[in-house]
Amino acid sequence: LRQAQGSAAVGTEVHVASNYSPLPVTVASGEGAWLTDVEGKRYLDLLAAYSAVNFGHRHPDLVATAKAQLDRVTLVSRAFMSDRLEPFADALARLCGKEIVLPMNTGAEAVETGIKVARAWGYRVKGIAPGKARIVVAAGNFHGRTTTIVSFSDDESARDDFGPYTPGFDAVPFGDADAVAAAITDDTAAVLVEPIQGEAGVIIPPEGYLARVREICTEKNVLFIADEIQAGLGRVGETFACDREGVVPDLYLLGKALGGGILPVSAVVGDRDVLGVIRPGEHGSTFGGNPLAAAVGLRVVEMLETGEFQERARTLGAHLDEGLQKLIGNGVTAVRVAGLWAGVDIDPARGTGREISEKLMDRGVLVKDTHGQTIRIAPPLVIRSTEIDWALEQLRLVLEG
Ligand code: PLP
Repeated sequence: LRQAQGSAAVGTEVHVASNYSPLPVTVASGEGAWLTDVEGKRYLDLLAAYSAVNFGHRHPDLVATAKAQLDRVTLVSRAFMSDRLEPFADALARLCGKEIVLPMNTGAEAVETGIKVARAWGYRVKGIAPGKARIVVAAGNFHGRTTTIVSFSDDESARDDFGPYTPGFDAVPFGDADAVAAAITDDTAAVLVEPIQGEAGVIIPPEGYLARVREICTEKNVLFIADEIQAGLGRVGETFACDREGVVPDLYLLGKALGGGILPVSAVVGDRDVLGVIRPGEHGSTFGGNPLAAAVGLRVVEMLETGEFQERARTLGAHLDEGLQKLIGNGVTAVRVAGLWAGVDIDPARGTGREISEKLMDRGVLVKDTHGQTIRIAPPLVIRSTEIDWALEQLRLVLEG
């Protein structure tokens, strides 16, 4: 019986909790932009684990770095120092143009860290009365799944039945800088936004929004926290999505691609006068900044320093955009593209986002729907333009029925 259950579990997820509804594909291996399932069928990966695999599956430099570190030391906790952490933090701080780095593991932990830093800064530097600090957030946000983070989500499936909720957040429409200004009071410690909302369907704010929010935050002595966990690290054709408007936030929240698609690595990056408010013993994580993560993270930063991946995202993104525009009116109602990242709204007459994703899967292309009618396209940045053409042709055929 045990054996029967074991084999049934391959591809059917008998023992996995149903907190996701994955497409019915069971991946066995991956290389570059391609995944192979347990039956040997190959798929072009147009999701890249929600941008965590920006450099492609098993990038040889990243795998070599991880293997070398596996042979040295992998975990010491922050009770001791490792010879990998400082070089990683130094390189990442430089990439961000900031002074210090607080390493964590998942994106949600980086967001939680940003919230704690903002509150501590609010009390200790700005002088907000104890317990009163507030943070302005955007409607339609996605910052992760912890109880505090879902407290300021307006997505019912993320939030409902998970209360009581953490207070202290004020939501305003995304893309409306005047609404941000109006929501700020003397008790506001920070404004926290995704520069481009990924989970919401690659929603790009109006030009000038980020620059205006930056100005407002500076004028009103409020921290600007950019959640670049999905948008950052090359995806949009720049190192950070904030770079599109020449904006530098007070805190960068980074994750996903920082771990090179190998292991979870996240970080909060800022200057000493802000991030330095956290004192020894006040915050941390057993695994945060571990030597294996730091070694891989350092290699990721070195790869981004060349600018090669940002350039690929720019040129391949323009190519993808061109192809997607041709589908508008032919099963696609709207397209939003930033670098090699696209939200594609499917005409409901042609099916739901999920149905289109399943039909694409049958044709060897992996994407995932978000919010019903939208599919998000975020291929590894190592994809070739001919592969993008092939994927677009599959999408065209699926939409044609
Ligand atoms: N912030 C943003 C913008 C994200 O897109 C995500 C994940 O999709 C997160 C935070 C949470 O990251 P994680 O799933 O690693 O906790």
